[in-house]
Amino acid sequence: MADTQHPPLIDRHRAVLPSWLALYYADPIEIVRAEARRVTDATGKTYLDFFAGILTNAIGYDIAEISDAIRRQVDSGVLHTSTLYLIRGQVELAEKIAKLSDIPDAKVFFTNSGTEANETALLLATQFRRSNQVLALRNSYHGRAFGALGVTGNRGWSASSLSPVKVSHVHGGYRYRSPFGHLSDVDYIRACADDLRDVLRTTTSGDVACLIAEPIQGVGGFCFPPDGLFRAFKEVLDDYGILLVSDEVQTGWGRTGEHFWGMDAHGVTADIMTFAKGLGNGLAIGGLVARGDVMDCLTANSISTFGGNPVAAAGANAALDYLLDNDLQANCAKLGGRLVAGLREIASRSPVIGDVRGKGLMIGVEFVEPGGREPNQKAAVTVLEKTRELGLLVGKGGLHDNVIRLAPPMTLTEDEADEALDILARAIEVVR
Ligand code: PMP
Repeated sequence: MADTQHPPLIDRHRAVLPSWLALYYADPIEIVRAEARRVTDATGKTYLDFFAGILTNAIGYDIAEISDAIRRQVDSGVLHTSTLYLIRGQVELAEKIAKLSDIPDAKVFFTNSGTEANETALLLATQFRRSNQVLALRNSYHGRAFGALGVTGNRGWSASSLSPVKVSHVHGGYRYRSPFGHLSDVDYIRACADDLRDVLRTTTSGDVACLIAEPIQGVGGFCFPPDGLFRAFKEVLDDYGILLVSDEVQTGWGRTGEHFWGMDAHGVTADIMTFAKGLGNGLAIGGLVARGDVMDCLTANSISTFGGNPVAAAGANAALDYLLDNDLQANCAKLGGRLVAGLREIASRSPVIGDVRGKGLMIGVEFVEPGGREPNQKAAVTVLEKTRELGLLVGKGGLHDNVIRLAPPMTLTEDEADEALDILARAIEVVR
């Protein structure tokens, strides 16, 4: 219930938290209860949550098997111990993740966030290659710290123009607004690979550390490059010995339906994969899995005090077991197909939808001005607010902030998918 003794929470938030801390909705919500795929706010209103899957709760809220595993760890009294001692849950989780990756001789390091995971990947790649030159994609997002921001290729999220790495951005991620025009998959891939080769030749000295890329750009608006793009990129990178870092913070764990990792769609194995967000199903955990020789290239000691702590590891182990035991990847494929089909049907009646794109439970709807491709940010905001009013939480994003992003928990049901489609149709109707 709202606290009548104090100013509204939003005023208190604004007084003590930074102005740049992004908040959704004109009247931001405070979630006080959650169960499965539904959350309840402080006013008692309940919403179907179609964004938690990416952000935090990949599987769903308060899933008994996961909550019980966390509770057992808390009840043991060991929230954390010094990293100078062995942590069983951390070792077990690392073994599972190493096995789930196709990376040879894989080793895993745990952090508390995606940003830290990418910072560590950049640290490893630059040390391994003894170079601070890095390639990244335009329209990318890799986190909020100095190095991760330095490679981020989305101005709206680049809080600093200074950077510890020398970055060159290449095309490839955001096909809907590609400067190469509307090409077939094969020609698009060739154009992007040629661009990569050209950038390497003309803006770098060639001894580049890595290319860091999201297989599907998340903050950038759920942008799907054609399958095979990264295979073509890898061929170019291999000519120079450059490492491929796949930022799987949004794409991992089977969410795309077709594959377990986003990079799998391209038929290549990255040298380093970073992950975070959904792994802990709500607990703070991130990390990276890398080739053993790359992971072990640091010679000085390094630790993350809380990375892979016993509670986070218990939650992540239980979440990973749950999603594998219940083949949630297949559920993502099935319900993703249903949602995309439904959205394409809605789009066929709406002049403000320029593109519906998706793989599994990662679906983007790009809003444009009627009759063209001009970004229509207002339409996206209207849909965000209207869906909230109608009881559905969705995400927003894109270079032009004109994309509605859907990423429900992987345990989504058919009825919930249909309920969301119905609400989305009604919300989109408002901006026709
Ligand atoms: N990489 C990607 C692809 C992300 O989407 C994000 C978060 N939006 C990050 C890295 C950073 O993760 P975190 O917020 O946990 O630091």
